[in-house]
Amino acid sequence: MMEEPEKLIGGLKVSLSLFENARGILAVEDNKPDCIAKLKRLTRDENKIVVKALKTKYPQGSERQLIYATTGRAIHSAMLPSDVGCVVNNVDTVIAIYNAVIEGKPLMHRIVTVTGDAIADPCNFKVRIGTNYHELVDEAGGFKEPPVKIISGGPMMGFGIFDLDVPTTKTSSALLCLTRDEVSAMEPSACINCGKCVEVCPGRVVPRKLADYAEHFEEEAFVNNNGMECCECGCCSYVCPAKRPLTQVIKSMRKIQLAKKKK
Ligand code: SF4
Ligand code: SF4
Repeated sequence: MMEEPEKLIGGLKVSLSLFENARGILAVEDNKPDCIAKLKRLTRDENKIVVKALKTKYPQGSERQLIYATTGRAIHSAMLPSDVGCVVNNVDTVIAIYNAVIEGKPLMHRIVTVTGDAIADPCNFKVRIGTNYHELVDEAGGFKEPPVKIISGGPMMGFGIFDLDVPTTKTSSALLCLTRDEVSAMEPSACINCGKCVEVCPGRVVPRKLADYAEHFEEEAFVNNNGMECCECGCCSYVCPAKRPLTQVIKSMRKIQLAKKKK
């Protein structure tokens, strides 16, 4: 039976066959040398596929960052990757393409990471879509301590959930169960104008200002100051010494603006 890395190359070749002059780039952060070596070995006879080791940093995996890091082309929030001749897919999607086109199998599984200091035996699972989160927690040995915070998704971009009786979906990626909620234990205070949020922002916006506009519901100012360029990475909230919930308020305002655009 074909293993996942071979399926990844197979799925990429299916995608490349749709575009005459396209080439495929397998982008992997440089803290995974085994993975890079294996992919290089598997693609040594593929003249349309290259493996690119990227600097390990956050955020590196979002569409905009990946396109820039691999091709030097830049896009903003009003553009699609196709506007600069790119298609960005994650590993799971490329494998799903292989399964669908070559093996005739629909997407039925996801890789879900169950982790956090509340979990007895953190692991990655290949699960059928629809499997309940509580079944995954049981399979990971259950809770060694009661969790105080449960996050669906990663620590920076995931969202809190209150109930484990929730099915996994095709977008589920991780379940993070924490014994301490350090974020809600911190009282936000006034901005001290340190500029740290600006320094770390990959969207090149001014998070402090955008959060002010969002909090005061100044929609026009939010949009005019490029609020839609935020990729919701969470870096500004993470570094803010005043513990302002910058990402959360910017994210809410972005949602409102996106919903308005759809109307
Ligand atoms: S979440 Fe904050 S740091 Fe990240 S892109 Fe948005 S404003 Fe910038
Ligand atoms: S990091 Fe926080 S305190 Fe510093 S400028 Fe930004 S919002 Fe203000």
